[in-house]
Amino acid sequence: MTYQLPQLPYAPNALEPYISNNLMSFHYGKHHQAYVNKYNELTQGTSYADQPLEKVIKETFKNPDQKTLFNNGAQIFNHTFFWNSMKPKGGGEPHAKLKNAIQQTWGSFDQFKVEFTTKASTLFGSGWVWLVKEGEKLAIIQSKDAQTPITGETQKPLLTLDVWEHAYYLDYQNKRPDFIKTYLEHLVNWEFAEKNFG
Ligand code: FE
Repeated sequence: MTYQLPQLPYAPNALEPYISNNLMSFHYGKHHQAYVNKYNELTQGTSYADQPLEKVIKETFKNPDQKTLFNNGAQIFNHTFFWNSMKPKGGGEPHAKLKNAIQQTWGSFDQFKVEFTTKASTLFGSGWVWLVKEGEKLAIIQSKDAQTPITGETQKPLLTLDVWEHAYYLDYQNKRPDFIKTYLEHLVNWEFAEKNFG
């Protein structure tokens, strides 16, 4: 069974002017697609081919011999989660339940944004920043390269931001902080986070 690249939840130009059609076409159409192609190549003819993506990610994470398959599978999941973490006319603030949880954890929504920005800008090299639910608490975590919170049993991802250079270079060049600010102000999909928060 061949894994299909999931559809983008909006048109590739829908996040303009914050993410250009050009950047989205490369990031989704080339990078995300390449992870899918490699994943299919590696799973073809193996017992992994018929297993759900998340199961393959969790199993290969525990097996150092399957590092390449893990990396490609996790990058498929992470990117799909990232597309859903954004929407046209995003930004703003979450509603009561999640907003209360954020205020309880960081004191204020503004302080949450400060912490998220710090975690996203200080991640050295390639990786992801996540807002996760851990039990009844919230946390902002960094994951390196393809690492993903779903391999642990305790963290449920609510939102993610891709801070690999390929995620912003075409539009923002080396200015990762500008990309992080734009994500929080104009792109983040709080409805998706609320749905994940439950
Ligand atoms: Fe990416």
